[in-house]
Amino acid sequence: MRFRGRLWIGATAGALVLATIAPAVAASSPTPPSTSSASGAPATAPAAQAGLEKAVAAAMLSRSGLSSAALASKKQQPQVNAQRQSGMWSFGTSVITAAQGDHTAPEGWLFVAESVNGQWKVGLEGTPAFAEMIARSPDALVDRAEKQTFANNARNAPKAATALQARTGLALPYPQGESWAIIGGPHGWSGQPRPWSSIDLNKTFGRGSYRVLAAQSGRAYDMCRNGGHVRIVHDNGWTTEYYHLANEIRPNGTPVKMGDYLGMTSTRIPCGGSAGSNHVHFGLKQGGSFVPLAGKTIGGWTFVEGSRAYSGSARRGGTTVGVGGFIQNYGTETTTQPNPEPSPTVSPSTPPCSQEK
Ligand SMILES: [Zn+2]
Repeated sequence: MRFRGRLWIGATAGALVLATIAPAVAASSPTPPSTSSASGAPATAPAAQAGLEKAVAAAMLSRSGLSSAALASKKQQPQVNAQRQSGMWSFGTSVITAAQGDHTAPEGWLFVAESVNGQWKVGLEGTPAFAEMIARSPDALVDRAEKQTFANNARNAPKAATALQARTGLALPYPQGESWAIIGGPHGWSGQPRPWSSIDLNKTFGRGSYRVLAAQSGRAYDMCRNGGHVRIVHDNGWTTEYYHLANEIRPNGTPVKMGDYLGMTSTRIPCGGSAGSNHVHFGLKQGGSFVPLAGKTIGGWTFVEGSRAYSGSARRGGTTVGVGGFIQNYGTETTTQPNPEPSPTVSPSTPPCSQEK
């Protein structure tokens, strides 16, 4: 049984805060929800929810290597979003919010949890425990098609990571044929730290539509309590992440196709961080972990790191486009073209998200 509403658990001050907010899948979602009715959904006892919150938060701290004291010192918080419940099982998303205004972005994981003898066992995305528990979980919690996507993603991740790593089979996250500006070259999901898995992109100077689209088909998840942060798990072994979205979908394992609408670029920071101008902070993951963009071909462009985070470039055939330049989205095309269309280059007019103080 899946909740149609969202059960949010505040992790601060030891207080348990429950609130039902937007439906699990917004009307603007590109596909109908694959959820069952809320009628008859069992209410989970507050004590069990509190235990779930603590268990998932502990798993996140362990995975991130951060202590609760370190989080508290930067006013970061674990958010646990239990989106579905079935019997003794729970599934959802969880994030560690970024410090407001800091050079960071929220990091999060899908989770699956099972209550055994009153204790929650938690599997975070990308771990063997997650794969094992997802496979074993009731179909009412994670249906067979979604399980297949997780299995495909795990099976294809090693292939994607090795010989054919350049061929991501991913498009850039905006309409094919549009050219958007690189307003921040390869940098970390959380700013300076490696791997430099992320880029900042936006429509500029009347070009394009501000519409952020799915880079490939897969299952989409809503990571933050207040939206604006979407993750897509792709069958081909990659996972892509999109932050600073406005007018966004609120997916809960929703199937998406390449080019489906996710949201609009904006400066929203619903899970902390910073954004100095409208853009999408677009990141690449494999097996639940961020991986460098360098050498990867996305949308027909192969990314190159610079000497420092936020510099770097994109290459296509004999053309190199640096920060401030425009790159056309060629979709999933992976071969470089001998005579690419020239891309106009402009000076960067606005700093990207995480360079902004
Ligand atoms: Zn960024």
